[in-house]
Amino acid sequence: MNILVTGGAGYIGSHTCVELLQAGHKVIIADNFSNSKSQVLQAIEAITGKKPVFYQIDVADYKALKQLFCENDIDGAIHFAGYKAVGESVQKPLSYYQNNFCTALTLAQVMQEEGVFRLVFSSSATVYGIDNPIPYKEEYPTGAVNPYGRTKVMIEQMLTDLAASDRRWSIALLRYFNPIGAHPSGLLGEDPNGIPNNLLPYIAKVAAGQLPHLNVFGDDYDTRDGTGVRDYLHVVDLAEGHLAAMDYMMEHNGVEAVNLGTGQGSSVIEVLHAFEQACGKQLPYQIAPRRPGDIGEYYAHPGKAERLFGWKAKRSLQQMCADSWRYTCRQNNL
Ligand code: NAD
Ligand code: UDP
Repeated sequence: MNILVTGGAGYIGSHTCVELLQAGHKVIIADNFSNSKSQVLQAIEAITGKKPVFYQIDVADYKALKQLFCENDIDGAIHFAGYKAVGESVQKPLSYYQNNFCTALTLAQVMQEEGVFRLVFSSSATVYGIDNPIPYKEEYPTGAVNPYGRTKVMIEQMLTDLAASDRRWSIALLRYFNPIGAHPSGLLGEDPNGIPNNLLPYIAKVAAGQLPHLNVFGDDYDTRDGTGVRDYLHVVDLAEGHLAAMDYMMEHNGVEAVNLGTGQGSSVIEVLHAFEQACGKQLPYQIAPRRPGDIGEYYAHPGKAERLFGWKAKRSLQQMCADSWRYTCRQNNL
């Protein structure tokens, strides 16, 4: 199949392109490099031996996207393009509503005009808000607590309305939990600019000697060691989940919200210890105050993905840390 991957040069998108190419699909990437680098395209080619078609465009640019569809016989799309930093979304809400919502709107509009009705959308566990019991199940009410999360809720609602309006649509709303890790080749991974907000990239920079210690945001949560618990999943498992979702959507119509997580929670301290094992040294940390807006513990109920897509995360926390460390070493010539 010919699959359009918006945001395909990004962290999750690039790993998904690798899996798509290795499964024999043709991949057409649309990315404006607002949060990625062109070297990613060479890495995808080095891993797979195949070259994706690439368009450096803004996905919210109707004319440019229309041209892409005219020049390629697209069978379905996976929509990753968007901004993803929660804190930044509070500082710059308009930029988040504009980029996240307008890319999804323009893509859906062009797909409808071009008669392409298979769409996989990158949603997030953040749509569950703060009041739901764990593990999170897809039927729970949504309600995000920051502009980033609200863009995901709004896009989910728009796509649900769209699917209700025309039976030909087949849309998967994939709610990711905490993707971490890197491609086992060490060629692809997550490399944020500046000081990372997320736990794994931060720990990786401490391990690489670029930051002095990890700040553990709170050790007084009602969890097994007092630190925050999340459902970390390997980015390659996540990428495989997209292929499974796309296969399912080719055979079924309608809209489905589906969690992609392992169903297992790990605490900040457990992740730190797993990374210490991966890099072979002790990593300094300090207990810091809770981060505003953080929830103590959540993880996925992962049963629906297995039931519908036959997909289940396979890779361990240890493997996630080992792959992440390999990528960090390669990036920093360690
Ligand atoms: P990323 O920033 O690495 O990738 C996003 C890509 O989209 C980047 O390459 C960026 O250049 C591109 N992009 C952004 N706006 C664009 C536009 N208007 N036109 C064209 N390209 C554009 O992020 P990621 O971690 O790979 O996340 C991918 C998607 O998954 C995002 O929608 C994100 O909200 C969602 N998600 C991510 C996580 C996570 O923890 N990484 C968790 C849940 C959901
Ligand atoms: N965390 C931390 N120190 C950091 C970054 C994160 O203790 O420097 C904790 C955070 O409080 C949460 C967990 O690690 O309990 C995962 O945070 P992350 O930002 O990676 O993901 P999210 O909060 O989006 O689930």
